[in-house]
Amino acid sequence: MNRRRFLRASGLSALTTLAAAACNTDDTTPPAGARRSVIVVGAGIAGLSAARALTDRGHDVMVLEARDRIGGRIRTSDQWPDAPVDLGASWIHGVDGNPIADLARRAGARTIPTGADDNTVYGTDGHRVGQDSADRIEHWRNAIAAALAEAQDDAEDETPDASLRSVAEHAVNWSALPEADKALVASLLNDYEHEYSGSADELSSRYFDDDAKLRGGDVLFPAGYGAVTDYLTRGLTVRTGQVVDRVDWSGAGVTVTTTTGSFAADHVVITVPLGVLQSGTIEFTPGLPEDKSTAIAKLGMGVLDKCYLRFPHTFWPDTDWLTYVPALDKPGHWAQWINYARVAGQPILLGFNAAGFGRDSETRSDTDLVAEAMATLRTVYGPAVPDPLDHQITCWSSDPYARGSYSFNKLGSTPDMRDHLAADLADRIHFAGEATDRMSFGTVHGAYNSGLRAAAEITG
Ligand SMILES: Cc1cc2nc3c(=O)[nH]c(=O)nc-3n(C[C@H](O)[C@H](O)[C@H](O)COP(=O)(O)OP(=O)(O)OC[C@H]3O[C@@H](n4cnc5c(N)ncnc54)[C@H](O)[C@@H]3O)c2cc1C
Repeated sequence: MNRRRFLRASGLSALTTLAAAACNTDDTTPPAGARRSVIVVGAGIAGLSAARALTDRGHDVMVLEARDRIGGRIRTSDQWPDAPVDLGASWIHGVDGNPIADLARRAGARTIPTGADDNTVYGTDGHRVGQDSADRIEHWRNAIAAALAEAQDDAEDETPDASLRSVAEHAVNWSALPEADKALVASLLNDYEHEYSGSADELSSRYFDDDAKLRGGDVLFPAGYGAVTDYLTRGLTVRTGQVVDRVDWSGAGVTVTTTTGSFAADHVVITVPLGVLQSGTIEFTPGLPEDKSTAIAKLGMGVLDKCYLRFPHTFWPDTDWLTYVPALDKPGHWAQWINYARVAGQPILLGFNAAGFGRDSETRSDTDLVAEAMATLRTVYGPAVPDPLDHQITCWSSDPYARGSYSFNKLGSTPDMRDHLAADLADRIHFAGEATDRMSFGTVHGAYNSGLRAAAEITG
């Protein structure tokens, strides 16, 4: 995701002091009586950052994690020992002033830059697009961006919100377009779906991009993003295999019940993904207030899935990105690829599928998906392209502890719903996780900052 956000650094600065404090080794034991017991639910980056900050300040912290591993939607696979690959988050978006870049440095994790413009684009027939098509893509891209900028400005007035697709299609006069241009426009809409994970029909044209703007390039981790979560976890108390199903805050503190037992504390920090909250698998007693329940129901949880294909040798050009314009009846199918050979030093391609097609792909077998991916690659690179030796395919939407890839601002939601989602209850239940970050939802740094914010609510 995210090839467009290269922007200003302001959104991250507020929490940098806390971030610098996290992972320190100083003894900052709180004064007598101020030491709090805290349960953190979820060992993703948000839960780990909250637990890290609280533990470093001398509080008594236990992390309860449903899976048998830490990291949540940061997950480095070691299925290929010579080529670790990230099945969840890949990039640090905008390294300047980004706390994750700082953590990566302290963890000693190597990163390599990728460039959005380092891209080879293929048309539906598999040939590289010529200057004429490139100009038309640019023309439609600008027309859509201008219409969306106008829709975002409408936030100040009474104009009702509309879906990203309807605004874009109106801007390009869709019904009058020749089929070839429709395919180009559809692929530009699919770019937004990859970045924001919601479908163009569901994304709010007004609020889809309400994020903190970052400066600096994007970088990937050749040895895996897991280095960051491993680093944050050092010295923390994490209990895996603990599926939380009940949070009782009717008494003075909180009681958290899992499938194996009950745990009591002064505070709980809930960091499970929005999709898990939407599923209702965690019961809150008393129930959540209306504004929080409304936020949970109305914000969107989208899909971005990955398909790594490992080949005997490379057969593609040496650019960071390889982009295909699918036929109109196959919108978003196998449209975006990363040349992972640059990252892993092995002949690997990484394909992304988002939103509607991403969700559908999770209902199909790996064999079927690989065959369809190969049909696209053979359209572009010819019939002699070898079969892959192996593959790794994600299913984030079907994962019971994620229930989607990351959140998006759905038509019918408003940004203040993220504040409602983030708000603590009775200074006992605190909420963190990417979906609670109004400015940088859907990102690792947004999730990380939300954990620091929840920790600060507890430490005062
Ligand atoms: C395919 C993909 C690509 C992405 N690419 C990028 C990218 O390039 N850059 C970027 O910045 N972001 C990216 N993201 C988004 C990023 O991964 C997330 O925003 C971030 O990791 C979320 O962290 P979190 O702590 O909020 O949630 P999570 O990491 O999901 O942590 C929540 C934890 O809660 C646990 N949990 C769930 N239910 C329960 C329960 N009942 N009891 C106990 N524990 C429970 C989960 O197992 C999980 O460990 C991507 C995400 C995906 C899926």
